[in-house]
Amino acid sequence: MQGENQPGVAYFCPMQLLDGKLVSRSVKEKVKDKTDLLKKEGKKTPHLAAILVGNNGASETYVASKVKSCEEVGFKSSLLRFEETISEQELINAIEKLNNDEDVDGILVQLPLPKQINEETIINIIHPDKDVDGFHPVSIGKMVQGLPTFIPATPYGILLMLEHYKIETAGKHAVVIGRSNIVGRPISILLSRNSYPGNCTVTVCHSKTSNLKEICLQADIIVAALGIPEFLKADMVKENAVVVDVGITRVADASKKSGFAIKGDVDFAGVAPKCSYITPVPGGVGLMTIAALLMNTLMACETKYKKQA
Ligand code: NAP
Repeated sequence: MQGENQPGVAYFCPMQLLDGKLVSRSVKEKVKDKTDLLKKEGKKTPHLAAILVGNNGASETYVASKVKSCEEVGFKSSLLRFEETISEQELINAIEKLNNDEDVDGILVQLPLPKQINEETIINIIHPDKDVDGFHPVSIGKMVQGLPTFIPATPYGILLMLEHYKIETAGKHAVVIGRSNIVGRPISILLSRNSYPGNCTVTVCHSKTSNLKEICLQADIIVAALGIPEFLKADMVKENAVVVDVGITRVADASKKSGFAIKGDVDFAGVAPKCSYITPVPGGVGLMTIAALLMNTLMACETKYKKQA
């Protein structure tokens, strides 16, 4: 693609898509091979238990694709569905049952939960050994210290993608827009760790950041995770930046059969021509999140055998 880095000098900027479809397929193949090996060795089949509360359309879709992905790689999966009106104690009881079930390796509670249930309480009830979403404080604490643990699935998926495309990260300025516990905060920590991908100098932006555009313009890598469709515009991105779009928002669209379109946090049409690499939405980080969840579930299963050895 054509771009300009100084007045009058045109240069060729080959933008490459960070293809979630391709990378997640490659991750799933590796997970399937390892799962086949476990079975061949007479060991147990990795088992993911997913909990879905209520009838939220987006949550239904996410859980259905997670269950389908388990089938693809040869995992066992259980889907536990509960009414919107379930009490916090009933949900706690269900999770404790899964905590004590020897056959279950990973537990995933699809968020958001209904108002009567405190999400923090529920996350804390999941046994850290089965916390494949990586949201438990024990997992987060270990991640901060750089110890082996479950990394939250979306940030882990981003790392797998950067790794797949061998994107240079050391010494780069990474700007993360968003500081949520499930995306912004963990990816900012991971990118700053002394490892690959990592060793970035990281700036975390949020809704109170006053000079966001100026900060973004200094970024070699931008991770947009704020949940505002097409927020990041071309005039906020420097030439050759790597842009990772985490956003997934359903926007009403009468032209679609479903009645909505999925939008990312990046104005793809405007930003892509300036980038060296960029993730599309859909087809980017969302698919990697599921692949990372499978990696975590496999790790949960394999760790059992390592503990026994
Ligand atoms: P969240 O909990 O709502 O957090 C949003 C963050 O963005 C907050 O830290 C907020 O700042 C910040 N923010 C909001 N408006 C801003 C603005 N104008 N300028 C700068 N920062 C702003 O959202 P989340 O759970 O992290 O999710 C973010 C997006 O990623 C959503 O679209 C979500 O659907 C998507 N997502 C995708 C995946 C996937 O698999 N691809 C997984 C998870 C989430 P404050 O802290 O100041 O409020």
